Formats: sequence, C-alpha cells, structure tokens
Amino acid sequence: MPSNMPQPLLYESHCHTTLCKHAFGTTDDYAEAALARNFKGITFTCHCPLPDGFSASVRMKPEQYEDYIARVAATREAFAGRLDVRLGLESDFYPGVEPWLEKLHAHTPLSHVLGSIHYQVMDYRRLFYTGEIFSYQELYYDHLALSAESGLFDTLAHPDLIKNESPEEWSFDRMRPVIERALDRIAATGVAMELNTSGVLKSLPEMNPSPSQLALMAERRIPVVIGADAHVPERVGDGYAQALHLLAAAGYSEVSFFIDRKRQSVTIDDALASISAAPVSSQPG
Ligand SMILES: [Zn+2]
Ligand SMILES: [Zn+2]
Repeated sequence: MPSNMPQPLLYESHCHTTLCKHAFGTTDDYAEAALARNFKGITFTCHCPLPDGFSASVRMKPEQYEDYIARVAATREAFAGRLDVRLGLESDFYPGVEPWLEKLHAHTPLSHVLGSIHYQVMDYRRLFYTGEIFSYQELYYDHLALSAESGLFDTLAHPDLIKNESPEEWSFDRMRPVIERALDRIAATGVAMELNTSGVLKSLPEMNPSPSQLALMAERRIPVVIGADAHVPERVGDGYAQALHLLAAAGYSEVSFFIDRKRQSVTIDDALASISAAPVSSQPG
C-alpha cells in the first residue's frame, strides 16, 4: 500500500472463480484488483454446487468444492499481511434445497454466505414459472422472504433481480405492496441485503436493488452489504463509490460486510474516504 493511501476498510463481498464456468481470471487476479482499490479484504462467493444437476452449467460440481476451498486458501496465503482473503459462497435458494445447503454450509467454515434467487435459471423456471409474469414477480419476493426466514444466509444477493425478466413489464409502483410485505418479513429476521453494483450492466440498467427499494429497506433498518458480483478481476470493487452515495441518499449512514459470518459496519463517510484515492475503472463484465 503506498503511504499516501488512506487506511483500507472495505471488503469486496461478492465475486466469483472460473469454477462456475462463466467467470474469468485467477483468484490471485481478483485479490490483486482488491488491493489496487485499497480494499481491506475480498471474500470469494462463487456459485454453490447443487444436487441432482440443478443449474449445473453455471456452477461448480459438488466434487469440485474441495478445489474451490483450496484455491481460496492458496490466495489467502499468497496475500497474507497485505489483503484479507476469505472463503464465502453464493448459494441458490428455492423451496426444498434447504437440507442440502445446511450440510454444505456446515462442511467448512465460511466467512459470508449470500442467498440468491436466480429466477432466470431454467431448472428454477421449470419449477416455478406459470407463464404469468406478474405472478412470477410476486413469487420472487415470496421466495426472497422465505430465503431470509430459512436462516441459511447472511445477505440476500441482488434482491430485485426479477425486474430484469421483461423489464418493460416491471413497475415498482405496482409491486410496491408486495415488496413492502417481503421487506417486513426480511426485516424481522435481521438478515442483510445486498446492493449489487453489477445491475447497471443488466437489461434494466440500475443497481440491484433500485433506489426506491433501498429507501424502503432503510425505513426498516435492514443492513446493506455492497457487492460488485465480479466475474472478471477488473470488476472487483466496481461502482462502490456510487453505491455508497446511493445508500446515503436512501437514508443510510453505515455500510456492512461479514467476517466469519458476523456483521461489521463502517460509516459511509469513512468507507468513501478509504477508496477515494484508489484508481477508478468501469470495466464491463
Ligand atoms: Zn455468476
Ligand atoms: Zn454472483
């Protein structure tokens, strides 16, 4: 760290490895990128293995889980004393998967567990899409609340991703009562929610969730973790400054991240100061 850099404070809380078959770069490359952004640490959260070949094309196989653990451990060792490298997981939620995830999450200590509803995954769609977009949007928010209530997750990832399914059919105002009911249930669990900066690259180009949903989350004091969801090293830490400003505008004064599955918070002002001198890039990914 150059001596003119402020004290590192932030973690990249959401990034991937090549094991999911749609990410690029070595785990060391991601760690280098986090160092360059003046981050304190990085937590790898690759797509979890699932049973019965569910969504197998975009995730590691169950027998690759040990390889995943080993890759992150090797990078942790390589960056010891410079960057805090941690093992996490992005686990898919759908009703019925709970016993599998419970076992998986207990296999090896994890630092941060993201819960994701990936409505676009064909195996999920086959189970839950009835052909009616509005009921699919409602079901998404019910599953989001169920995922919080499962107790399996620290943070709910990209928690309005469904808006990218037919963006022209998305209306926040129409969905607002559904979203508010889900957020009431989530707030009651104490689970955090993510502000995912990769949303700007999706078909409805804004972060996930939207500023309108963030404001409803702030009213309920739901903690927020920022994640870039990097699938290329260049996107590590991408959009954090903008995300921090969005959080402040929604009424937040702090941002959170997880270490050993315990939530820690820093003020938005301190977080912004810690990355202010770091180089900014906005690579697509
Ligand atoms: Zn992915
Ligand atoms: Zn992800």
